[in-house]
Amino acid sequence: MSKKTKQNIIALVYDFDGTLSPGNMQEETIFKYYGIDKKIFWAKSQKLVHEKGYEQTLAYLKLLITDPAFKKRPLTKPMLQKLCGQVPYYPGVAEGYFEQLERFMRSVPEVAECGIMLEHYIISSGLKEILDGISIRKYFKKIYACEYDYDHGKPVFPKLVINDTNKTQFLFRINKGKLALSESINQHMPEEERRVPFRNMIYIGDGITDVPSMTVIDKAGGNAIAVYDPCRRVPRKVKTMVAEKRAQHFAPADFRPDSLLVKILHRTLKKIIYSIAYRSSSDRSSDWVQRHW
Ligand SMILES: [Mg+2]
Repeated sequence: MSKKTKQNIIALVYDFDGTLSPGNMQEETIFKYYGIDKKIFWAKSQKLVHEKGYEQTLAYLKLLITDPAFKKRPLTKPMLQKLCGQVPYYPGVAEGYFEQLERFMRSVPEVAECGIMLEHYIISSGLKEILDGISIRKYFKKIYACEYDYDHGKPVFPKLVINDTNKTQFLFRINKGKLALSESINQHMPEEERRVPFRNMIYIGDGITDVPSMTVIDKAGGNAIAVYDPCRRVPRKVKTMVAEKRAQHFAPADFRPDSLLVKILHRTLKKIIYSIAYRSSSDRSSDWVQRHW
């Protein structure tokens, strides 16, 4: 028997570095705390990739355990959670963006009529311990990022690695409502039973690393927005993404009210809200006809 769901949840899914925050979270927190030169660190990481065949994300996660600075003074969970205060945000992110979107949702009558809810998610190749401590943590239903297993307070092995392509796994977790990593997402689930259909998703990312996620979202009828640093000219990578139609919209990462990005978000949200309301009235009318057959 079909377990048809209301499909009235809208998910906003964000990359983190370069999307909600300028730069790179490891550089802003760990490197500054340890006095590490980012060029040297990333060169070592690339060396592991090119000389030993390491996957990009695993290479940096290995160095954060085995590099001499971390051997001498290992990272700890409490240290990472303390360092999260150093993470900067793009304009508006920590200054009312989430509340403003909630107000916008309340201003559209169909939201209350159809019980539509908005949820926020992060999928990042950065570190979960840092993201769990950020000041905007409370707005997110779930954050997926790289995680270590700790033994006696020291990271011993990465227990979850998130890179460009396996980011898409987490889109399917949100889609099927199977958010816990222990839940398998491989079984078939009919479209009408999925908690958040892709057409109700908006993915926001900043670069080539987001292309696999944007492609999945786009092909499945969802919405992808590419953002770039508002303080810089449009970077070449974004021009390429525009030319290759990797996203439906492009905007500076400015989350303040009346910015281009927020206007695009409002329009996209309205499109999704009206589509949910339209489907809901279509379902109600066919129910009515069946009852009066
Ligand atoms: Mg990014």
